[in-house]
Amino acid sequence: MVSENETIVAISTPPGRGGIGIVRFSGPRALEIALPLLKMRAELEHARARFAEIVDPEKRSKLDEAVVTYFEGPNSYTGEDIVEIAAHGSPVILDLLVRQSLSGGARLARPGEFTERAFLSGRIDLTQAEAVRDLIESQTLYQARVAAQQMGGSLSRRIKPIKQNLVELIAVLEAGIDFADDDVDVMADAEIVARIDSVIGPLAELARTFEHGRIVHSGLGLAIVGRPNVGKSSLFNRLVEWDRAIVTAIPGTTRDLVTEKVAIGGIPIELVDTAGLREATDEAESIGIQKSREALADADLVLVVLDASTETWNEEDDLISSVAGRCAIIVYNKSDLESRSSSHHMVTEDNGMRAIRTSALTGEGIEVLRSAILDLVRNSGTGGEDDMLTSVRHHEAVTAALKRLEEAREAISRMTPHEMLMLDLYAALRQVDSLTGETTPDDILNLIFSTFCIGK
Ligand code: GDP
Ligand code: ZN
Repeated sequence: MVSENETIVAISTPPGRGGIGIVRFSGPRALEIALPLLKMRAELEHARARFAEIVDPEKRSKLDEAVVTYFEGPNSYTGEDIVEIAAHGSPVILDLLVRQSLSGGARLARPGEFTERAFLSGRIDLTQAEAVRDLIESQTLYQARVAAQQMGGSLSRRIKPIKQNLVELIAVLEAGIDFADDDVDVMADAEIVARIDSVIGPLAELARTFEHGRIVHSGLGLAIVGRPNVGKSSLFNRLVEWDRAIVTAIPGTTRDLVTEKVAIGGIPIELVDTAGLREATDEAESIGIQKSREALADADLVLVVLDASTETWNEEDDLISSVAGRCAIIVYNKSDLESRSSSHHMVTEDNGMRAIRTSALTGEGIEVLRSAILDLVRNSGTGGEDDMLTSVRHHEAVTAALKRLEEAREAISRMTPHEMLMLDLYAALRQVDSLTGETTPDDILNLIFSTFCIGK
């Protein structure tokens, strides 16, 4: 089946110039198409790198030098024959190689098609394929570690015993239904309920890991809000350690939202510097304020910045009460300007929010702020688990499976015939199987692989 595939080709290194550029082939004709592009002294052997010259098709002279690696199917990434030509990273030469192989009968690979073939040939399951993409897209080392675990099949291993229990239950009930006339013992209802619970338990536990897994995968949004001129942009810059926001002494200049990604504790955090939340004096500013309100509403974490050098924060009362109950930190900035001890003003601790003094000018308190943000990040999920659900797709499948299992459980208490119960159990099984790709519909598969980069 696999051997009938077309041979695909793609530049697998990122676009543009680089030290090395790799053109990759996969398919039954990989060798046949790649070899004419090269001049080699020794034959290609499985999993061995060979030195080669890339030949100019017109002048018949040497165009570049390359290292060529061959993997003989089925012991390759895709399960098919693979040839990788690592040349110098000149887009001109890489393009030439691709064009020549297209006229030699190869087809340009779609995004993710190499990994799709690895999946279709059964070398990896769908959770592993998705983990390949996550690993490539990871922005922090922590994310990469989680993806690497799943690439090794950690999620599949966790799902396996759950599925096993479900399949056994279905098998027993099927037998009971088929032989109902022949006096075969149908399982007692209490036993069925117990068995369903033994599937629900670990599945629900898995579903809960998404609380943290979602954050690991997508990161958190942190909005910096406060009145104009309190030092939001300066704090933003301190946290980013890179001058992106415009810092000026004129109130109300950060009209648009400025965002920047940072990593705190391995979690990507999107910092949003908002315009000062106060009455706008012109239209551009009022748009900025509107955007700030939206950013505040969307944010997972909020820094409410106050000016520590002023006497009272009456104007901020509304803002502070509006973030009550959310993951927020009150920041008393400009601590360097504080004339006298105004600790009696720091009344915000009693809404359960942490209050921290900083000076964006001197850097005082910035490290404390960072670790306070890290605490909030850690608190926003259970954390610590290696094989957590990080993908929305996986979470939806697990949740849907749980729903059908709960329905099955309820059906028993209503004395519903077992045939009806089976519908729920099979539906739950299909959801569990869709995690690893056993029952994932083609259009969903296409959707998943289309999010990969070209050449992977
Ligand atoms: P924003 O409007 O809240 O974004 O405030 P900015 O970050 O633009 O800062 C407004 C002014 O306050 C600028 O002149 C900053 O240099 C100054 N500023 C910001 N943070 C501090 C601080 O911690 N101490 C002092 N002394 N000045 C600060
Ligand atoms: Zn600003």
